Amino acid sequence: MEQAFRIEEAELIRFVQELVRVRSVNPPGDEEAAARLVEARLRSFGFETTWVPYGPNRAHVVGRLRGAAKVPGLLFSGHVDVVPPGETAWDHDPFGAEIVDGRLYGRGACDMKSGVAALVFAAGALARSGRPLNGDLVVAITADEEAGCRGAEHLVKEPLFDGVGAALIAEPSALQLYVAEKGAFWLEVVFFGKTAHGSMPDQGENAIDHMAQFLTRLPRLFPSDLPPHPILGRPTLNVGTVAGGVKINVVPDRCVAALDMRTIPGQRHADIRTRVEAMAGEVAAGHPRARVEVKTLVDREPVSSPPDSPLANAVAAAVESVTGTRPRPGGVPYFTDACVFAPVLNIPMVICGPGLPSMAHQPDEYVEVRQVAQAAEVFARAAAALLCDPGS
Ligand SMILES: [Zn+2]
Repeated sequence: MEQAFRIEEAELIRFVQELVRVRSVNPPGDEEAAARLVEARLRSFGFETTWVPYGPNRAHVVGRLRGAAKVPGLLFSGHVDVVPPGETAWDHDPFGAEIVDGRLYGRGACDMKSGVAALVFAAGALARSGRPLNGDLVVAITADEEAGCRGAEHLVKEPLFDGVGAALIAEPSALQLYVAEKGAFWLEVVFFGKTAHGSMPDQGENAIDHMAQFLTRLPRLFPSDLPPHPILGRPTLNVGTVAGGVKINVVPDRCVAALDMRTIPGQRHADIRTRVEAMAGEVAAGHPRARVEVKTLVDREPVSSPPDSPLANAVAAAVESVTGTRPRPGGVPYFTDACVFAPVLNIPMVICGPGLPSMAHQPDEYVEVRQVAQAAEVFARAAAALLCDPGS
């Protein structure tokens, strides 16, 4: 029987509230105050901490609790930036952290300040349990995740991750277990033509016409015989925006489209880009006044970790011991900081955290208070299973 950990639930929830009340909206980010709160907690639990500045009023914080270096270390990670509250009016103050009927409301309550707080309190519970650690526990709290994981990309270059053998990312999963995430490959395609009076289109080169032809070719981009990934399924493509033209009676000389592709392991983004360029080039070919440019906006490779890695097994067992239900490893179609940590450190990852994934970025975002405490207990048990001797 695994040992339970003493999670100070009331204090944990107060800590979530403190974090939610920090307006770390990205852009511009302003994560510093939230990172300071995390830093102070980690220190109070006996962690060595490193403060990593990331632009004005922005920073990451990394804590390390040293073990005997007999087993690989474990990385706990989360981000403290949040998306803006949005245009839709909220019933609850987005930065008030009100608790109503067991739900804590606020921007970041779900994605993912509750996850960050649960990681920090789990780390504290393990530290205070006095159980000897066979490996290090590293807690890395990042800035600038919501704008494409640029913060993690900056942080991972620091020499703070020596000996880490697996990463747990506490993004909202309602305590489900995810071991794979799709890649994100965002391209901007711009067709250039030549402007002319709308009554004399033959004098110009219509960039919107070229774009239209290009867009009809896109369904052929991913080969139809591409085998679906066992967890992530098939890749997707969404044309997010198309813009072109200035006036009804003017031949448009520019048209721009943004393509959002979500990829699966085995697809190479460089190959996809080459195919897109070839398709666009075919459209422009034979039109000397037409030209096309392709620009990469976001390039995050897909991540797939073994569903039976020691970390995945430890988290699944911990969730079962806390909630009574063993989660089956699944995948997510969006990207998280795991897309940086897993490939750069060459380690397996899992995503597991409190809050419904569908609540992220929504008005009246909330997290179930009970699930935050459960998450902290899950994280502490999983870490102990990996880092401590049984029964120590
Ligand atoms: Zn998030």
